[in-house]
Amino acid sequence: MTAQTPWPKGVIGRYLTVGRANVDITHDNPALDAEPSLSTAQCTGCGRHMDHYWSTHAGRYDNGRTGAERAAREWAQTHAGHCRALPKPTA
Ligand SMILES: [Zn+2]
Repeated sequence: MTAQTPWPKGVIGRYLTVGRANVDITHDNPALDAEPSLSTAQCTGCGRHMDHYWSTHAGRYDNGRTGAERAAREWAQTHAGHCRALPKPTA
C-alpha cells in the first residue's frame, strides 16, 4: 500500500493517508469532460467514500470532470490528513 503499488484500473488520483492507506479518486468517464460528471473518492483504510457530482442542473456551473475531480481531490486531501485507519491486510 504505497506509491509503488500499481494503481487499480480507473484510478486517476491517489492520496496516502496518515494511517498508510490510500484514498483513490475515480471518475465515471475519465475520457470525456462531459456533464453531468461524477468523481468518487474512496478510502481503503476506513471505507469512507464521497461522491462529487457536478451538473449545471444542480446549479453548479463548471466543465464537468474538472469540477468534480477538483472537489474529490480536495476531500481526499483533507481525509488523508486525518484518517488513521489501517488498510485491511491482504493474504
Ligand atoms: Zn479513511
